[in-house]
Amino acid sequence: MAYLIRGVHAVDPQVGIDDVVDVLIEGKCIAEVGQDLSADGATVVDGQGKYLLPGLVDMHVHFRDPGFEYKETIETGARAATHGGFTDVATMPNTMPVTDSGSQIRYQIDQAHAAGLCHVRPMGALTAGQKGEALAEIGDMVLEGASAFSDDGHGVQSAGMMRTCMEYVSQFDRVVCAHCEVESLTTNGVVNEGRASTRLGMFGWPALGEELEIMRDIELARITGCDFHVCHISTARGLEYVRRAKADGLPVTCEVTPHHLFLCEDDITDSYDTNLKMNPPLRTAADAAAMREGVLDGTIDCIVTDHAPHAAHEKDCEWEIAYFGCVGLETSLPLMLANMVIPGKMSWQRLAEIMAINPRRLLRLKPVRIESGSAADLTLVDPERVVRVTPEYLESKSKNSAFLGYTLKGCASDVFVDGRRTLADGKVVAS
Ligand SMILES: [Zn+2]
Repeated sequence: MAYLIRGVHAVDPQVGIDDVVDVLIEGKCIAEVGQDLSADGATVVDGQGKYLLPGLVDMHVHFRDPGFEYKETIETGARAATHGGFTDVATMPNTMPVTDSGSQIRYQIDQAHAAGLCHVRPMGALTAGQKGEALAEIGDMVLEGASAFSDDGHGVQSAGMMRTCMEYVSQFDRVVCAHCEVESLTTNGVVNEGRASTRLGMFGWPALGEELEIMRDIELARITGCDFHVCHISTARGLEYVRRAKADGLPVTCEVTPHHLFLCEDDITDSYDTNLKMNPPLRTAADAAAMREGVLDGTIDCIVTDHAPHAAHEKDCEWEIAYFGCVGLETSLPLMLANMVIPGKMSWQRLAEIMAINPRRLLRLKPVRIESGSAADLTLVDPERVVRVTPEYLESKSKNSAFLGYTLKGCASDVFVDGRRTLADGKVVAS
């Protein structure tokens, strides 16, 4: 199959392209980038008014497969990812059983192949069963294709264990991704400690519970030399630690979610919407502003969704017992386009960096570039297309979006994965 994307504004800072061009896709690769290319039998895709980016990557999603397929499967998760404009996702290992061996990494990759939509790049657990007690089978998982390692869902409580994880993982040229949470400080915590916990009369999850572990792990990265990545950062002080670590030349990176960028604890006070219950929790308005600044100034490396599907009965209940997390794959790009990629604020180049180029580097994937010979893993963005976030809009099996009811302008119209059109004019194309 061949496609000619005609008259599209291609943006890729890796090759210095920021121009209106034609892009010819043949087989799995980009055959040519240039002006007035001949279609020569290729299916023509109208790129006028649209932007073409290296395929978007979300390096933090939960697909619940195996173990909790009633929430999401690799197939339904891949549909949601495709609908949201992604060519690649990294799945977190807190499945049941925990993804802590090579065969389980292989299972996820095989399921993704069968679904035939996006690339799934599973992360392996750092510790066996994510119990924080003994190393998982890191080498075995690398051999089967593990993209990175994390005990996400939990902080690794023992500093000694985390040091061992970093020393070991760094030998395989992989990144340690950490959910930073000191559990002795966050026991029973369900909202940000401070105004939210006081007004709502609920147990607080303090900023310090996150910041202390970020600080500890940065110091462990300093002595081990391990590439260390902070998952879903949410506090201004935590971000400041990352900023200083980068200034010190340490191999430290971090990611943020759209909900920590565009929502804050005050949104809960008004609504009690359990889709706003997250871990880490929504922080203060000042924290969210600091996150947006971090995206613009380069301290934050990636946008991730922490896509966390839950069934209706797990959210339609009292705040204290509702599950943590929200789905995000289908609102991430629209939220970034509506709130950040606006004149005078953020460039399309920066969007390409934080949603495609940086996560690919951290997952040790081959770069995708808008030039001939590169893999045709591409996202076509229509900045004018309007998204109404309703349960019907979501391809995910779960509908627990924190942004239900929003109307956003701008989203992916088409996605190409290995030269196959997996999203065509906004519709997911089953293989
Ligand atoms: Zn987490």
